[in-house]
Amino acid sequence: MSIISDSLKKIKPSPTIAVTQKARELKAAGKDVIGLGAGEPDFDTPDNIKQAAIKAINDGDTKYTAVDGTPALKKAIVEKFKKENKLDYTTDQVTVGAGGKHVIYNAMMATLNEGDEVIVPAPYWVSYPDIVLLAGGKPVLMECNEKQGFKINPSDLEKFITPKTKWIILNSPSNPTGACYTEKEIREIAKVLEKHSHVYILSDDIYEHVTYEGFKFFTIAQIESLKERVLTMNGVSKAYSMTGWRIGYAAGPKEIIKAIAKIQSQSTTNPSSISQAASVEALSGTQDFIKKRSVSFQERRDFVVKALNDIDGIECLNPDGAFYVFPSCKGLVGKKDTNGKEIKSDTDFVQSLLENSGIAVVQGSAFGLEGFFRISYATSMDNLKKALEKISSFCKTLS
Ligand SMILES: *Cc1c(COP(=O)(O)O)cnc(C)c1O
Repeated sequence: MSIISDSLKKIKPSPTIAVTQKARELKAAGKDVIGLGAGEPDFDTPDNIKQAAIKAINDGDTKYTAVDGTPALKKAIVEKFKKENKLDYTTDQVTVGAGGKHVIYNAMMATLNEGDEVIVPAPYWVSYPDIVLLAGGKPVLMECNEKQGFKINPSDLEKFITPKTKWIILNSPSNPTGACYTEKEIREIAKVLEKHSHVYILSDDIYEHVTYEGFKFFTIAQIESLKERVLTMNGVSKAYSMTGWRIGYAAGPKEIIKAIAKIQSQSTTNPSSISQAASVEALSGTQDFIKKRSVSFQERRDFVVKALNDIDGIECLNPDGAFYVFPSCKGLVGKKDTNGKEIKSDTDFVQSLLENSGIAVVQGSAFGLEGFFRISYATSMDNLKKALEKISSFCKTLS
């Protein structure tokens, strides 16, 4: 008998964290490595937010709080939804957890029975399928390839819905592809979901504030006929460069919100009091940071997409949001690197690239779509220039 539980054996550690770790090790061994694997903004947390945290400590805001969020933070979240998304919620429809990932985990733990199905469009954020498995559910992967812009084709969706479907997960802007759904596209998906009243929708809006060129963000809870079946998850990690602070939140059906509070009351109690106070400032204070940062991100995206498309064998779409691109390396499969090693898959490509050029990226298969890789451009323009030069030289050595 193993000491480790059966449910844990079904899951794997996050592959994106694994790449970051491997790059760190090579760096420690003295190799010149540029990591393009990170899933977090490189900007520092804005100063007004840091000051709010310092003030919270000095004011003695250092004790247990309400299990699923302080009244002040819940109020700030309600106001955020109202102001930015035209969504009306009451504070008992809001939950706060230790990061968006934790909120998703809680939601799945609160709702899934053995064998319940969750539709996960692929390529997907690496944690969705494993969280579903941990909660005893069954991830149902739905391929969305580059021909459809890595987005759900509404007519396919129908085929994936069964009586056992409990959730579908939507993520726009997307990690790993940067793809963003327009209002029109969301309305088309909604038309299908309207017909299946047993299916709940988890909308992961964590990249809402990382969009470009006037892209107009729209979230599925804005569709009145579906709102009571939507759990809208968001957080401060990506919007305000607060990944280490661990605050995420969601709004949705009271029944689910209440169940999540029950889980937290018996597991983490409350998210950090200090981080919650800082998040009130993030949501309610000046939003200047977001615009400035988007300008930098867009410059980098433009550079990276062009540089990638200039490489023979690589093709890259131009996404509207997040800080990732998801180029195809299918044109290089079948070639050999200078050590005579054949590139048989995206995983081989990524490994050979790291070993030969010191560039760390993540293989598409880690996100459920083979033949691609993910580049995070959440790093300086200098780093990106060096990295893209090295990727280009590396690809030229393949024959
Ligand atoms: C980063 C990320 C999250 C959650 O991040 P937290 O730091 O846990 O708030 C959720 N979904 C996606 C797609 C992400 O990339």
